[in-house]
Amino acid sequence: MKRIAVLTSGGDAPGMNAAIRAIVRTGLDKGWEMFGVHNGYAGLISGEIMPLGARDVGGIIQKGGTMLGSARCREFETEEGRRKALTQMEQQGIGGLIVIGGNGSQTGAYELSRMGFPVVGVASTIDNDLYGSDITIGVQTAMDVALEAIDRLKVTASSHHRAFLLEVMGRKCGYLALMAGIAGGAEAIMIPEQKTDPEVVAADLRAAYDNGKAHAIIVVAEGAQNNADGMAQYFQIHRERLGFELRVTKLGHVQRGGSPGSFDRILGTQLGAAATESLEKGNKGVLMGMIKGEITATPLDVVVENKKDLDLRLLELAKVLAK
Ligand code: ATP
Repeated sequence: MKRIAVLTSGGDAPGMNAAIRAIVRTGLDKGWEMFGVHNGYAGLISGEIMPLGARDVGGIIQKGGTMLGSARCREFETEEGRRKALTQMEQQGIGGLIVIGGNGSQTGAYELSRMGFPVVGVASTIDNDLYGSDITIGVQTAMDVALEAIDRLKVTASSHHRAFLLEVMGRKCGYLALMAGIAGGAEAIMIPEQKTDPEVVAADLRAAYDNGKAHAIIVVAEGAQNNADGMAQYFQIHRERLGFELRVTKLGHVQRGGSPGSFDRILGTQLGAAATESLEKGNKGVLMGMIKGEITATPLDVVVENKKDLDLRLLELAKVLAK
């Protein structure tokens, strides 16, 4: 009988629990013994590896976060740390590992698979910056949280003729900011992939004000060259040119804690099930993701060596629509 372990690593993402549930139950269905590693790679190194039965993953599909806990672990970035992890798995008779996480986590998975251990990754990060999956677990829910914030800010902004700067997560990737900005009808969107001159944003705000708009929303990605704090400082100095009074809202981790929407539950379920399927077929050292609507396995070396592009035509479209 095979013993397979699953862990979640890096930032938590809504839908991770659906993936854990699918991995455990499809694994049990294959006659395997399933294990959960607590607190990501840190728990793998310290041996926090517990058996998981079908009932242990009951009642979690609707919950945000991860029932296994997650962590960032510098020790796993060293070969010595990974050797400790391998020893722990060997002691428990674990013969395969499924890693649910983003870029860094899949780099760790790749390094482990290079040491000869069977690993399969599941694409999960709210940042959507992972090559090998057009959309990753958690993105849709995080985007809906950002969108709800935009809709609410618009209401109060309109009442007071204000402009709001909304900072959203995404690390060095502007996907969340761009998509939430488009869906929320933002007047300006600032993302890391394209440098935006604050002067241009100021002129756009002034134009919106002169055109009779009752509010203005600027969505700023946390990784943009000028983040919300930088822009707020700039606008403070130039406030007479804006027309609007300005307020800043940072969504921060609020974006992560949402209960997963249907898309993330289904994506988590499909990718989780595909990961056990892949291990069963001996197709290891791959990431399970969704490409052009199909569940697809991409070799982990290809995943870590490539960067996902953002379609900047959408940014141009957003500019046209903001008029
Ligand atoms: P998110 O972007 O959603 O927060 P992530 O998986 O990219 O998720 P990171 O903090 O970048 O999150 O990485 C998570 C963990 O993966 C790290 O704490 C570390 O344990 C492991 N990891 C990252 N880079 C490497 C590497 N080069 N080699 C081995 N392990 C790594």
